Amino acid sequence: MSAKLIMGTEIREEILEEIKKEVEEIKAKTGKVPGLVTILVGENPASISYVTLKIQTAHRLGFHEVQDSQPADISEEALLALIDKYNKDDSIHGILVQLPLPKHINEKKVLVAIDPDKDVDGFHPINVGRLMIGGSEVKYPPCTPAGIQELIVRSGQDTKGAEVVVVGRSNIVGKPIAVMMMQKGKGANSTVTVVHTATKDLASHCRRADVLIVAAGVPGLVKPEWIKPGACVIDVGVNRVGEKVSAKTGRPVPILRGDVDFDAAKEIAGSITPVPGGVGPMTITMLMKNTLNSLKFHLGL
Ligand code: NAD
Repeated sequence: MSAKLIMGTEIREEILEEIKKEVEEIKAKTGKVPGLVTILVGENPASISYVTLKIQTAHRLGFHEVQDSQPADISEEALLALIDKYNKDDSIHGILVQLPLPKHINEKKVLVAIDPDKDVDGFHPINVGRLMIGGSEVKYPPCTPAGIQELIVRSGQDTKGAEVVVVGRSNIVGKPIAVMMMQKGKGANSTVTVVHTATKDLASHCRRADVLIVAAGVPGLVKPEWIKPGACVIDVGVNRVGEKVSAKTGRPVPILRGDVDFDAAKEIAGSITPVPGGVGPMTITMLMKNTLNSLKFHLGL
């Protein structure tokens, strides 16, 4: 039997429409719209395309969007001064510094310079602490884990008391999603196990999972026999495994694979995210939601 596909591309559209509607309502009531600035340092092609997509999405939702591009040789001091300017700018509710930064700039120093109440990426240590405390303390959950949780909720997966196994312990995916899934609340309240490179028997842990979240960055790591029949499988991995020529543009495009052996896994799982089209589209969507929430916090709504 084939698993139900959890399509991030469709859930993204649903959420973006909800955000757009709310932006229009707040604008009609208060005259304010969410403001998002994206600071891009240098000309890394991948960073340019991420920033462009973020700006286009913000524009589509009626946000006030600012793209601030700086040369690769900007000094750390000048970059910190720029962040300070946006921290004080009342029309800006979300500040995003596109990573990676050039080597002469200390990334940690830059990320902590962002006002935690405008840190819509959720990477500031204060927001990491708020996430750990949980409940109403949480302001800006990091975007990829927040997207994963939306996919779980909107696909109708019951998580209360469920065995959730997270493969990977990174600061941007594994650790935060593990924390989120164990908190009380909707799409959570689970019993969580985190497995990683030092775990002795990865397969036996995965086999227990009602919800298996895989963020390892290893193509095809999770084999079909590691999946409990009927489980919900969220594949966060995005791995370039080759190149093909696009039928649309005639240009070479990367072939992407997830961390799960999708074709075999979909015959065993109850539901599963594809790669691409599953978790990927959710990250920018949740960035937009965090920026809208920031406006609401700032307006006291
Ligand atoms: P990372 O390299 O920082 O962390 C990977 C984690 O997986 C590590 O904690 C490591 O212990 C664990 N791991 C690696 N190999 C393993 C193995 N063989 N067995 C058990 N554990 C293993 O990566 P990350 O930033 O967390 O990203 C993980 C994957 O998710 C990557 O493919 C990345 O491209 C993708 N990703 C996608 C999105 C998105 O779709 N929006 C966002 C972030 C990351």
